[in-house]
Amino acid sequence: MASSTLRVKAKNDEEKRWFFDILDHRRSDVKEFVQTLSMYQWCDETYNIIDSAYQCWNGCRYCYIMAMNRRFRRGTIIDQTFHLHGTKVKKGWRKGDSKLFMFPSSHDIFEDMVDSYIEVARKMIDAGHRVLCVTKPRLSCIDRITRTLMDVKDKILYRFTIGSVDNEVLSFWEPHAPSFEERLDALKLAFERGFETSVSMEPLLEDPARVIERVTPYVTESIWLGYMNYQKGSAEIHRLCQCKIEGVIDIEDTVDDLETLEKRTHDLEVLKTRARELVDRYRDNPKIYFKEGMMTMLVK
Ligand code: SF4
Repeated sequence: MASSTLRVKAKNDEEKRWFFDILDHRRSDVKEFVQTLSMYQWCDETYNIIDSAYQCWNGCRYCYIMAMNRRFRRGTIIDQTFHLHGTKVKKGWRKGDSKLFMFPSSHDIFEDMVDSYIEVARKMIDAGHRVLCVTKPRLSCIDRITRTLMDVKDKILYRFTIGSVDNEVLSFWEPHAPSFEERLDALKLAFERGFETSVSMEPLLEDPARVIERVTPYVTESIWLGYMNYQKGSAEIHRLCQCKIEGVIDIEDTVDDLETLEKRTHDLEVLKTRARELVDRYRDNPKIYFKEGMMTMLVK
């Protein structure tokens, strides 16, 4: 693994140790810990190439980008065709300090733009950076990216989002994203072609045991468990979405309905208890890491 990737991983290892020290009452510096956890837990920078007038086609019901776009009345057009942000694709990259770029972070990778994705990833890498490729992977896209960027494979870390093995659950929460089988095949392909691989279960769409069992043989780096990447005032809705996922709230409620449920603190306590059970279950698994929202919830 390349240097910026190792640096971020070392930071994640330190955060995990600190988290357990607080849970086990060996440290009490909760405020400093929470301040240290940043939105950039996975990377140094993020980069996206979607036209900001459009919404990512996957249409995930829990999408915080969608929630933010709705709130600020932007990026609300939904179209199956991917609309590129031309300037961001054409931008030249000058060499500088090596950074780990999470690319993409506010859209996914689709067949009609995968060549533009590769073009930008190549420019980033040529400028000395590394790419954290976060996606609900389409097999054809991963095939194309891995073949085309094989010569720089040590500069790329894949992080495939797989929240459930159950396609009914996936199609409810992520209506236009690939099936579990397609995502698993993409993971196997990247692994067999010698790329670094990791899996994100953020958000958890079921108890993680089945996903962890199926993906572990093909994961070289890490498996992340997390609730919603809530931030900037949307914490309550995202926590309540997670309550809904966990079955605490009726599955028939729509996400919009959840906005009216902000006072359901009892549900949040149930969620917290479940999160603690998960952390205790997987704390000795060196591949498993916890997202910042889950850790923050448990130390506060
Ligand atoms: S893939 Fe990511 S950006 Fe796209 S809809 Fe789903 S959560 Fe939002």
